[in-house]
Amino acid sequence: MSKSKPGTEHRARKRFGQNFLEDDNIIRRIVKSIHPTADDNLVEIGPGKGAITEQLLAACPTLNVIELDRDLIPILLSQFIANYPDFQIHQQDALKFDFGTLLTDKDQQKKPPLRIVGNLPYNISTPLIFHLLSYQADVKDMHFMLQKEVVDRMAAHPGQKSYGRLGVMVQYYCRVENLFDVPPECFNPRPKVDSAIVRLVPYEQPPFPAKNIKLLERLVNTAFQQRRKTLRNALKQLLPTEAIESLNIDTSVRPENITLQEFVALSDKLAEHLDKNPDLA
Ligand code: SAM
Repeated sequence: MSKSKPGTEHRARKRFGQNFLEDDNIIRRIVKSIHPTADDNLVEIGPGKGAITEQLLAACPTLNVIELDRDLIPILLSQFIANYPDFQIHQQDALKFDFGTLLTDKDQQKKPPLRIVGNLPYNISTPLIFHLLSYQADVKDMHFMLQKEVVDRMAAHPGQKSYGRLGVMVQYYCRVENLFDVPPECFNPRPKVDSAIVRLVPYEQPPFPAKNIKLLERLVNTAFQQRRKTLRNALKQLLPTEAIESLNIDTSVRPENITLQEFVALSDKLAEHLDKNPDLA
């Protein structure tokens, strides 16, 4: 395990979710799973003091990074800019960052789809992933370190306790692979929870395309707001019981037993229902 390198001293800030990776073996394992190459359009979110950045740059010198904490920018510059003149730092909030700006070069030529990586600040990981899903057509893959519990929710199947809105919506867009766990000892300061690495690969075509994605989001959201109720009761405000039954879906089960394909069928039914009853939209 390595200590902070000279020139990278920085007091970790809780409000930025700063838990810096300090275990070289884990860093190598993460980068090996990403397998970056020189032709990639690679973006790292939250490079921090550059623990993963260093190895990413060695493989892909055109790396872009997005870091919110301005105090970390000189630390990143002093380490890398001399050897990697094409390294680009965006001192911005990744939640508001327009990832579309990374899809063309300075001559407005189209660049390859994005490969996005990051040891994400746990406090913003779910909204950030929803923000990134809005770019899924332009994303080749994503590798994230997240709270293990969040990775479990992303990869969960119907019937599992951790199955919910996050899993359904991420699995709508992406193939999800839970790669490996990372214990708190690998970080400084140590987080209170276990972490895990997840790989998300957006589908070229979602396997179960919904007629209206906004309606799918609304329906899934409503269903899991009341996850202990039966499906019939949880969706009462949106769909009459007969409409659900017409899809051969058992209305007495809980939302956590409904598959992605069934949620899509329900949202298509909702689209039909709203077309017939525009005053409900
Ligand atoms: N990648 C480094 C590592 O593995 O050691 C740091 C990881 S630390 C868990 C999360 C990083 O994300 C911090 O550097 C933090 O400042 C940065 N960060 C927090 N909120 C952010 C945001 N909204 N946008 C961009 N970066 C953010």
